[in-house]
Amino acid sequence: MEVTCPLCAAHGEAVLWRDDFCRVIWVDDPDYPGYCRVILNTHVREMTDLPEDERQRLMAVVFATEGALREALNPDKVNLASLGNQVPHLHWHVIPRFHDDRHFPDPIWAAARRLPRSPAEGCEDLRRRLERTLAALLTPPE
Ligand SMILES: [Zn+2]
Repeated sequence: MEVTCPLCAAHGEAVLWRDDFCRVIWVDDPDYPGYCRVILNTHVREMTDLPEDERQRLMAVVFATEGALREALNPDKVNLASLGNQVPHLHWHVIPRFHDDRHFPDPIWAAARRLPRSPAEGCEDLRRRLERTLAALLTPPE
């Protein structure tokens, strides 16, 4: 744990699913309802710093998140990104993309091509649906 790291010292995150290894959070971005982040719980810099089984465990959560978003939103594309240039603590961005979204076909961090959307409705429903799907995909049966 690094005291200055915002992902180690996270508070107020909207957690959709978590275990002792990682968590999936809802990113509150009005342009991108359904944008999720998968965050390793411990402070690790690169995927190759993890042992092989933990790399697979983390990616299984990323892929479950992608699957939950596809089921809920049927996006035109899902973007997976691991940057960490600003916060070098392993996390994956999982972003549902649509042909008419604010930045398509560019990455969401590029200059916008379109005006902001009006505030999305139904985000609470979407959040609950993602929570349920992730629980079903990731929680092993008793
Ligand atoms: Zn950290």
